[in-house]
Amino acid sequence: MALITSFDPWRNKLCSCPAKYSLSAYTGCNHGCLYCYASSYIKDFGRPREKKDFLKILSREIKKIPPGSIITIANSSDPYLNLEKKIKLTRQALEILKNYDLKINLVTKSSLVLRDLDLLKNMKKILIAISLTCLDQKLARKLEPRTPSPQERLKTLKSLSAYLPVVVRLDPLVYPLNTENLESLIKQIKSSGAKQIITSTYKIKPDNFKRMVSTFRQHQNLWQALYLEKGERKNNYIYLPEKLRKDLISRVKKLALAENLGFSSCREGFNQLNTALCDGSSFF
Ligand code: SF4
Repeated sequence: MALITSFDPWRNKLCSCPAKYSLSAYTGCNHGCLYCYASSYIKDFGRPREKKDFLKILSREIKKIPPGSIITIANSSDPYLNLEKKIKLTRQALEILKNYDLKINLVTKSSLVLRDLDLLKNMKKILIAISLTCLDQKLARKLEPRTPSPQERLKTLKSLSAYLPVVVRLDPLVYPLNTENLESLIKQIKSSGAKQIITSTYKIKPDNFKRMVSTFRQHQNLWQALYLEKGERKNNYIYLPEKLRKDLISRVKKLALAENLGFSSCREGFNQLNTALCDGSSFF
């Protein structure tokens, strides 16, 4: 199928997600996150555009998806981009999907998702994942320049969680930028109504590393030593050394469990630390 694709066509050995599909109305993204991985494999990534004949193709392909399947919206874009305000393709896609026996996992950083609360509340199986990296507005402005502030995302989370299951992707952990003060972040995530925290560490791709070091010059030497000299290469990404990753992930787990939140890490190889399915789908 051209539009609804297998979530992990490359069969990444580190991925422990249940089998699922991926769907996006848009190609590219306007949020400008420095650490973005999708920008390395999508042309003109910072110029988001709608997919041609999206609704027509979706209506055709959705009939072939087995009942009960999970569809994630979206993995290499945000379903609530600026474009969505006007052309509402994500909303129209949800209107189609609600007529099928499917589990829908919406992943977003945008408060625009609240516009569709009326519709989301009436969907049979829906899970929202809000991505959040820190509480510090200045840091967030540099790391994710065109996204809603952390406080706005927490408010969005609170409004959604009154009606729907919501998990948080505390993702990525960029050592040492956002790996301090995790306690207050996780407490606020809990008090805003999330059910689970999903986390992973930042991985280097050549283009995201260029953006990171040009913005955070003070960490260039440290990152070069940790990633390029001591790090691990896996599936075309460069990871932090295993011990440091495990320490960071374990710290998040401890804080999550202290708040009675579900916990999982994503594509780190530490599945034994997970207390819930790695993508939050335990909460459908
Ligand atoms: S929201 Fe996601 S897809 Fe968009 S720039 Fe940020 S990381 Fe990339």
